[in-house]
Amino acid sequence: MQEFEELKNAILHCTKCELAKTRQHVIFGEGNMKAHVLIIGEAPGRDEDIQGRPFVGLSGQLLDKILAACGFSRNQQLFINNIVKCRPPGNRTPSPAEASVCMPWLLKQIDLIDPKILILLGATALKYMAGSDYKITRDHGKWINVQNRPAIPVYHPAALLRNPSLKRDAWEDCKRIIDKYCEIVDPEHYSPHYKPRRNTQL
Ligand code: SF4
Repeated sequence: MQEFEELKNAILHCTKCELAKTRQHVIFGEGNMKAHVLIIGEAPGRDEDIQGRPFVGLSGQLLDKILAACGFSRNQQLFINNIVKCRPPGNRTPSPAEASVCMPWLLKQIDLIDPKILILLGATALKYMAGSDYKITRDHGKWINVQNRPAIPVYHPAALLRNPSLKRDAWEDCKRIIDKYCEIVDPEHYSPHYKPRRNTQL
């Protein structure tokens, strides 16, 4: 707990890259510091930078709906985070240098939270957590190993807003997350929209 607070304080005062010059807030992340599921997105956008919280714009609202359909909420099963903690100007993709400088903060958070499952939201999170060989269009919904734990790439909610036809695939990926959560965290987990596989065999 104390280590977590010390880390938070250090991150909130970080000026290690150029993004510090244009941000309004550092977005530390949000959720249960003992969460079993860590969600990693790309970067704060305009709304997040203003409010100082992750995923509060349109993408965040869609993300919350998807998570609720899975039976997850921010302050219970989840901690939500990004590859970089300060907004890139104009919502551009973070540069490799920015991602690399910020990465130790995220790795330290993973170390302290020790989640059992990582959800990689979109191409940028996939690239920086798993490597450039992976492609979100090809590899979404597949379990891979990242930081010695199961990780699943899924479409970023911003991509679902741009292209609603991806929602069907996105929900199939969510079902895999629910099944994995039931398998390794809580066999009794309840989703209002999906009966996990362990129940269908009863
Ligand atoms: S993006 Fe990361 S490394 Fe750059 S200033 Fe913000 S917290 Fe520090």
